Amino acid sequence: PRGTDRTDAARDHLWMHFTRHSTYEDGGRVPIMVRGEGCRVWDADGREYLDGLAGLFVVQAGHGRRELAETAARQAAELAYFPIWSYAHPSAIDLAERLAHHTPGDLNRVFFTTGGGEAVESAWKLAKQYFKLTGKPTKHKVISRQVAYHGTPQGALAITGVPDLRVPYEPLVPGAFKVPNTNAYRAPEHVAGDLKAFGRWAADQVEQAILAEGPDSVAAVFVEPVQNAGGCFPPPPGYFERLRQICDRHDVLLVSDEVICAFGRIGNMFACESFGYVPDIITCAKGMTSGYSPIGAMIASDRLFEPFRSGATSFLHGYTFGGHPVSAAVAMANLDIFEREGLNEHVREQSPVFRATLEKLLDLPIVGDVRGEGFFFGIELVKDKATKETFTAEESERLLRGFLSKALLDAGLYCRADDRGDPVVQLSPPLVAGPAEFDEIEQILRGVLTEAWVRI
Ligand code: PLP
Repeated sequence: PRGTDRTDAARDHLWMHFTRHSTYEDGGRVPIMVRGEGCRVWDADGREYLDGLAGLFVVQAGHGRRELAETAARQAAELAYFPIWSYAHPSAIDLAERLAHHTPGDLNRVFFTTGGGEAVESAWKLAKQYFKLTGKPTKHKVISRQVAYHGTPQGALAITGVPDLRVPYEPLVPGAFKVPNTNAYRAPEHVAGDLKAFGRWAADQVEQAILAEGPDSVAAVFVEPVQNAGGCFPPPPGYFERLRQICDRHDVLLVSDEVICAFGRIGNMFACESFGYVPDIITCAKGMTSGYSPIGAMIASDRLFEPFRSGATSFLHGYTFGGHPVSAAVAMANLDIFEREGLNEHVREQSPVFRATLEKLLDLPIVGDVRGEGFFFGIELVKDKATKETFTAEESERLLRGFLSKALLDAGLYCRADDRGDPVVQLSPPLVAGPAEFDEIEQILRGVLTEAWVRI
């Protein structure tokens, strides 16, 4: 089944991730993307789409960058593969040095993985071993936030707070506990409308969890700078400052999971810089190569590396493809593009324009909230704006899977309509997008959401 139409083969042989395959058994066609350029992608039938999600929060520098493809080819020809298990190669060394240059504080030690979930997994294992080596062997538990997504390996899944993703795989790794996230739109009544009070309350929830579990047993807190799952929750003012203090008070490591937020998504190389805090560990992946080759990293502070630098032991952890030469070389070329084209500056400058454009949608009855930072926004859909009443599970299913996902694509916009929390449309275009793309996104959403309101 070659040629341009691989629909049958996709249905019969490809196991698509997080995909309800019955959709395709029932006659649905698998969208097959074949080409990209800038903010656009084309499918096998030649239809053009605006990429409103940068693939999957990945393609920061845009599609079709020849220099990234050529860098990959050059590196593969020179040294396609060598492990970084007691050996090294130039691109991994150069990339580690360059990332350390961009991180805040003393986060100078880069442990490469092949993706985000592995980075999260690595961070939990490091936290456990670090405390064992430094005389606090009972510290092993982790705290994370409700509805947050941190990946699918079983450790990362235990940290993940999306109930639907967890239940089929229980029992999960023990020792992972959840606290409320920073969904200001649905803040508890006593702090609603006061962002600072909400931020204090949300950070204090972490401290209460540490105290409830016992500070001697808690190793780390995992948080995204802006939480994606649930619909884009930026931190309220003061949240991270307070969280940092709480972590310091109880000797709990603060892990900034920047798998989505790093590499310009919030307008800086690392998003902790955008919100003014220094974590103990950063996990990152997705945008590091703009998707031209897979790689991830766990970046740890000097303090965490110290027992491994000076002691007789090693971090007993690694991946065959961690720090792959091709990916590391592509990441360097990707960072060159960031610097040459000022992508972070562009995001900081254009973010208010993007926000203002999306906020026009607030005049629609179905749009309850528009929120986000940088080039990363969520639009929450509601049944009743005045009361913020959300849709029932059945309505949400009809709205998102039954209508929105397909209707948006049919209208030429690739993005995500998601209901891991309340229903949201997620937007995170390539960082080269500008006002023309923002307007197009707004217009397509306006048309499709207007129709959705009539149908629901
Ligand atoms: N952490 C966060 C915040 C993520 O958004 C993701 C993926 O979306 C992951 C971890 C897992 O990354 P990966 O899919 O590369 O394993």
